[in-house]
Amino acid sequence: MTVLERNAKPGIKLLISGGGKCNITHDGPMEEVERAFLPREGRFLRPSFYRFANTDVVGLLETRGVNTYVRPNGRVFPRSGRAGDVVQAMADAVRDAGGKIALGVRVDSIKQDDEGVSGVVAAGKLIPSRTVILATGGVSYPKTGTTGDGVQWVRALGHTIVPLRPALAPIGIEPPLPREWRGIALRGGCLSVMIEGKQVAQWCDDILISHEGISGPAALELSRRAAEDLGQGQVFLCFDFVPHMEFTPLDRMINEQVQGQRGRMIGTILEAWLPNRMAEPLVRSAGVDPATRGHVLTATERRKIVHLLKSWTIGRVSGVNIERGEVTAGGVSLDEVDPHSMRSRRVKGLYLCGEILDIAGPVGGYNLQAAFSTGFVAGESAAQDFLAGTARNSGAQ
Ligand SMILES: Cc1cc2nc3c(=O)[nH]c(=O)nc-3n(C[C@H](O)[C@H](O)[C@H](O)COP(=O)(O)OP(=O)(O)OC[C@H]3O[C@@H](n4cnc5c(N)ncnc54)[C@H](O)[C@@H]3O)c2cc1C
Repeated sequence: MTVLERNAKPGIKLLISGGGKCNITHDGPMEEVERAFLPREGRFLRPSFYRFANTDVVGLLETRGVNTYVRPNGRVFPRSGRAGDVVQAMADAVRDAGGKIALGVRVDSIKQDDEGVSGVVAAGKLIPSRTVILATGGVSYPKTGTTGDGVQWVRALGHTIVPLRPALAPIGIEPPLPREWRGIALRGGCLSVMIEGKQVAQWCDDILISHEGISGPAALELSRRAAEDLGQGQVFLCFDFVPHMEFTPLDRMINEQVQGQRGRMIGTILEAWLPNRMAEPLVRSAGVDPATRGHVLTATERRKIVHLLKSWTIGRVSGVNIERGEVTAGGVSLDEVDPHSMRSRRVKGLYLCGEILDIAGPVGGYNLQAAFSTGFVAGESAAQDFLAGTARNSGAQ
């Protein structure tokens, strides 16, 4: 078995995963890991999740000396904090199983004849093989080698490709947010996707203001939805700074604070609720002069401020860049791949696994688990089919 990898080093994407720390999988029962995916994707993943579970990933690493730990949110990381240790362990596992890793080999196409797959072409030469596992990933972070080559090949071989879309990506905002806000993290709030004034999706977690718009866990989680909704019209994003309080109790609390600090300016009072750099401009954007002293703030002005805290319109979604996503949604249609073996239902001898499939999980180690589980099953069934074919051929001789 030979792994053909176009990069000069193996596992480049693994090396940058989890900010270089590699959130290798997610802890807990596999039913819960499955539930993190869209139901259709979870159902497809179920057989491979049970064949090669999160405990198997951890076991494989630990037997190769890479100890892991679980964060309180269930995310599993190597204790060393180095993604490189994970890549090394995986590469060792390939070699221990008798496999080779050929680096710097860019595959150009897959060949097929009447019997099914007949090999791959690299640097103009056919490498014959009746068994090909396709694990070329999606199209995000193309500099890591994932330029969607595999998607083109399988389309040409007759597979249906569910349109590729960004997921877990930063979201562009119009009009651009003030430059001086870049780098500000808004913590503990809830981000909503809004269409025609109606909330269509919400995710409660931090957001980060970046040069292109917003990033951070809540933005990444909602990016797939925002990108899909963009096709249907204008999409807006709103942020609730105080999700644990309803409008009326919050109004009461702000009133108490204002009454207790009657001589202070409302812009300054709100620095307890909003990042300092944002308080004044946001209060102004709500139609209230930030220099207004507590004792002259009217009930109407106060309610405008409460509305701002509960539902700040960040802006209109200008786009979600697929290349900046942590994963690619869409890919090879799940109906055309057997979930128990990862065999293509279209082409004999072809196996598909990982992000090239129409699967995109949330942040938290789910995507790597999906790649490892489907990859394990693809490898196992390809080996079984190969051995069965070899036995048949030698029996016939
Ligand atoms: C910045 C970032 C951070 C992430 N962090 C996490 C995380 O912490 N936890 C998590 O679960 N997921 C994370 N992900 C997602 C996760 O890395 C991917 O879902 C996963 O790596 C997909 O695995 P794969 O094997 O399908 O594809 P990939 O890991 O993308 O590997 C595909 C490989 O195929 C090679 N290839 C492509 N075309 C060719 C060709 N023509 N010839 C030869 N080789 C080719 C590529 O060079 C590449 O090495 C992150 C992704 C990114 C971009």
